[in-house]
Amino acid sequence: MNSRIKTNKVNACIVVLARNNELYQLKSSMRQFEERWNKKFNYPYVFLNDVEFSEAFINQTSSITQSETKYAVIPKEMWSYPSWINQTKAAENRKKAEQDHVIYGGSESYRHMCRFNSGFFFRHPALLDYDYYWRLEPSVEFMCDIDYDPFLFMKKNDLYYGFTISLYEFEDTIPTLWNTTKKFMKEYPHYINDDNSLKWVTNDENNYNLCHFWSNFEIANLNFWRSEQYIKYFEYLDKEGGFFYERWGDAPVHSLGLALFVNKSKIHFFNDISYSHPPYQHCPIDKEFHESGRCHCNPNKSFDTDWYSCTEKWWAL
Ligand code: GDP
Ligand code: MN
Repeated sequence: MNSRIKTNKVNACIVVLARNNELYQLKSSMRQFEERWNKKFNYPYVFLNDVEFSEAFINQTSSITQSETKYAVIPKEMWSYPSWINQTKAAENRKKAEQDHVIYGGSESYRHMCRFNSGFFFRHPALLDYDYYWRLEPSVEFMCDIDYDPFLFMKKNDLYYGFTISLYEFEDTIPTLWNTTKKFMKEYPHYINDDNSLKWVTNDENNYNLCHFWSNFEIANLNFWRSEQYIKYFEYLDKEGGFFYERWGDAPVHSLGLALFVNKSKIHFFNDISYSHPPYQHCPIDKEFHESGRCHCNPNKSFDTDWYSCTEKWWAL
């Protein structure tokens, strides 16, 4: 076995929430992630699941990396209904959402997943020792070599959040999210950052324009999610019940939290990290990435300037 050279300069980990039956899709993600980046840096993985991981999952995911691998079950209270949720109403609304063809509208587990990613992963016991994380999912691709440490880059520049893809949310999943957010802003005006990115998430009528960072990729500072203002915001949203009565996603929730509470200079677009989560991908368009042999993506397929992307709007801020 190769020696595990401890090169990590940042207290960071790779966070993977996954199901046992996604093992092979996840190995595919990990293989590229290792080849393109992590085998040079050996950051540890933290795997999270709402049920016990299978032996096959543990054996095979730990075999595909030289890094340390940790496996943890999510405590019940982070993946269940809070007491104030009317579960009959939630079930009725799921049925209706399914009939209306809302994406994942009928899924109960998807809602627990979104709520967990919105309000709990960063305070899961297995993550408490870390300051930064990189979120990794099954069936994603990394198409360019990454020859530096993005965690160190985040730390050195005191950045809170890094993204590669942004887009518009399906309105049917979040009918009351914006009104709830506006109520929160009225009650807690002192939490709103003076140099916020509200302009990026609102239209001329001051409604939510549905823009959000695609949270299946995130390189971010865990301490931002642990901050008083974000926790208050999450708890406020959770009380309203939209994670269950509607189908609020962690992507718009994270993005609105960032838009409200952080200075926009704390958010970084990782142009040099080529990333694909079907059906979209980010591929840097600059010639040098392709002529140097560093990438295997097609820059013409990059989503950044698609009509459905919000990234040009981000650049224009
Ligand atoms: P999509 O990207 O929105 O289409 O949703 P995914 O199916 O990719 O789910 C998002 C992330 O949560 C992925 O990392 C999944 O592996 C994970 N995930 C989704 N549902 C569950 C679940 O019920 N249990 C566990 N353990 N992980 C889940
Ligand atoms: Mn996914």
